[in-house]
Amino acid sequence: MIKSLSDTVTLNNSVSMPGFGLGVWQIRDGKEVIDSVQYALQAGYRMIDTAAVYRNEGGVGEAIRRSGLLRKSLFVTTKVVDQGYDATLRAFEDSTAKLGIDTIDLYLIHWPIGDHYLETWKAMERLYRDGRVRAIGVSNFGQHHLETLLQEAAVVPAVNQIEVHPLQTQIGLRNYCYAKGIRVESYSPLGSGALLDHPVLNRIAEEYHKSVAQVLLRWNIQNEMIAIPRSTKEEHIVANADIFDFELSFETMDQMDALNVDKSVS
Ligand code: NAP
Repeated sequence: MIKSLSDTVTLNNSVSMPGFGLGVWQIRDGKEVIDSVQYALQAGYRMIDTAAVYRNEGGVGEAIRRSGLLRKSLFVTTKVVDQGYDATLRAFEDSTAKLGIDTIDLYLIHWPIGDHYLETWKAMERLYRDGRVRAIGVSNFGQHHLETLLQEAAVVPAVNQIEVHPLQTQIGLRNYCYAKGIRVESYSPLGSGALLDHPVLNRIAEEYHKSVAQVLLRWNIQNEMIAIPRSTKEEHIVANADIFDFELSFETMDQMDALNVDKSVS
């Protein structure tokens, strides 16, 4: 389990990835995303999760340049949505141009479309072999997608980014990924904000003298998942990373797991 905001996890190709980062879905390009990423980098975050479809890669790149931080100290994830071999290579060039960086740390297939993801994966493998990406992975892949992919793949995905929170624990898929050496990265760890009013979670937060967001994020890291909460507010971005000074008991973890209703919120 990561012990601090700067701690990393080791992916199946030995690349180190920060175990906690900022997600930027639905954050507007320009000032809003530049400010959000700057707040995060100032607070010590070193990993940013964006995607071509978020249409804010330009602002993410601008915030990285303005930070003055060394490129190698940062970990940038983006995702391809255009599928097929050539479309993926083109999308990659488009994303790197917008981000203003040559190499992507983690490049993900945003979601599987039909069986096009097999061709997409071949292009991802080429980008990996050519050294344009340090790790490749997938998102929104169920076990059956992974089983099909693994029959064809030369490179095992380093990460599967999926929706996980106490209402959608995905324990079967998480165990499958773990067994295959695929790291689980949880998206919508706060249920896109919808879990923050949950009565059981509020009671647990009171018990630990922490916020609901902090309890949810702590549940993530104690479950060995990489977490990428989103916020545009500096106080939330700072508070969300303040989760390394307490530990949820086994009993509390069980109570949170018991909230599962296999419910997606995104
Ligand atoms: P989330 O992180 O679960 O929740 C974000 C919401 O919670 C925002 O409304 C935010 O509002 C609020 N919030 C954050 N911290 C808070 C705090 N301390 N106190 C009160 N409210 C707080 O949302 P998400 O964007 O759905 O998921 C996170 C990231 O996962 C995304 O940004 C994206 O990078 C990734 N994702 C990936 C996929 C995929 O298909 N691969 C899908 C969904 C998400 P404020 O801005 O007001 O703080």
